[in-house]
Amino acid sequence: MHSRRDFLQKFTATAIALPLAQLHGAAANKSPFDEAYNGPVLKVAIMGLGGYGTRVADAMAACKKAKLTGVISGTPAKVKAWQAKYGIPEKNCYNYENFDEIKNNPDIDAVYVITPNALHHSQVIRVAKAGKHAICEKPMAVNAKEGQEMVDACKQAGVKLLVGYRMHFEPKTLEIIRQRNAGAFGKVLFFQGLSGFIIGDPTQWRLNRQLSGGGAMMDIGIYSVNGSRYMIGEDPIWVTAQETKTDPVKFKEGIDETIQFQLGFPSGAVASCLSTYSLDNLDRFFLNGTEGFAELYPATGYGPIQGRTSKGELTQPHVTHQTVQMDEMAGIILEGNKPLVPVDGEEAVKDLKIVDAIFKATKTGKKEPLAL
Ligand code: NDP
Repeated sequence: MHSRRDFLQKFTATAIALPLAQLHGAAANKSPFDEAYNGPVLKVAIMGLGGYGTRVADAMAACKKAKLTGVISGTPAKVKAWQAKYGIPEKNCYNYENFDEIKNNPDIDAVYVITPNALHHSQVIRVAKAGKHAICEKPMAVNAKEGQEMVDACKQAGVKLLVGYRMHFEPKTLEIIRQRNAGAFGKVLFFQGLSGFIIGDPTQWRLNRQLSGGGAMMDIGIYSVNGSRYMIGEDPIWVTAQETKTDPVKFKEGIDETIQFQLGFPSGAVASCLSTYSLDNLDRFFLNGTEGFAELYPATGYGPIQGRTSKGELTQPHVTHQTVQMDEMAGIILEGNKPLVPVDGEEAVKDLKIVDAIFKATKTGKKEPLAL
């Protein structure tokens, strides 16, 4: 384990080598009034040094309880750049062929898998077999069966498996959940989730089923799937879904462009959601009950998240989601902390069961039952 002082010394040494603009980005997340932290620190290797991996790495510079100590990548030039930027020693750098060797590396407690969706399954299982905790990006896998195999492998290896559900730590989201639990909205009967963006480059992995496992639903629709559950506070018991496609050249067989879906919950509440790769400005959650409502818009972007309830604006401060997520996840792994909304593998398997049923319902046209 690294102490806070150890981390700060290393951070300062790295920071001296950083251009001012980069340093500002990292330091902007840190409050000078932060109290000193001398507890355990989770040493994390990031696998997949792409767009989101870079965002997580930058955000981790401001973490108290988590520190970036290693990388796993198929691109040597990126590894060199990350070594220089984040002060990562050569002995903590791996590729996709040799990363099982992290087993013998005490500088790595956990691996954060941030690669294309279809690769998560085999990569997380290898991380578990190497005896390291796994943090995996959403969607955890491309179907519930693979997700369950990942959960089982981590359980068998005695390591934790967490999924990158950063909204489960977002202050305005949590405030709505607290208010709902306190009865502020009365009996909750309706949720609307809108999740979408216009996807660009048609050659990217997100539009290649072999790597993505699906289209908008796997990538962005899953925010409404997961959001329905944490906003209503129940697990659904049935689903109906309808798919539409306006561009079959860009969105090939097995890549969904737009899916509308509806979920039914045991209390009688219903959710109505849209997942699409063909509309921007589509990131809104709306929860309605017999005594009030809550709205988040934007609801799941990098922020600032904006929100209000029938009682007024939500004023919780903006936080860098990935900084808070990694500190909270370190607390879960190292200290056994329990988050208000779970982020473990079992939680993510539930979302994949819903996604499997949504895909099925688009084909059968029937109401598909769910047993989560
Ligand atoms: P990118 O394409 O930007 O990066 C993916 C990285 O994975 C690549 O740079 C590469 O890194 C590695 N990789 C390994 N094998 C392949 C392959 N066959 N094809 C392409 N890349 C490969 O994707 P993102 O970072 O945007 O997404 C990665 C994951 O993170 C996805 O599961 C996505 O859903 C999730 N994500 C989550 C977000 C959130 O807010 N929680 C936001 C954005 C993405 P290297 O060269 O180092 O091997």
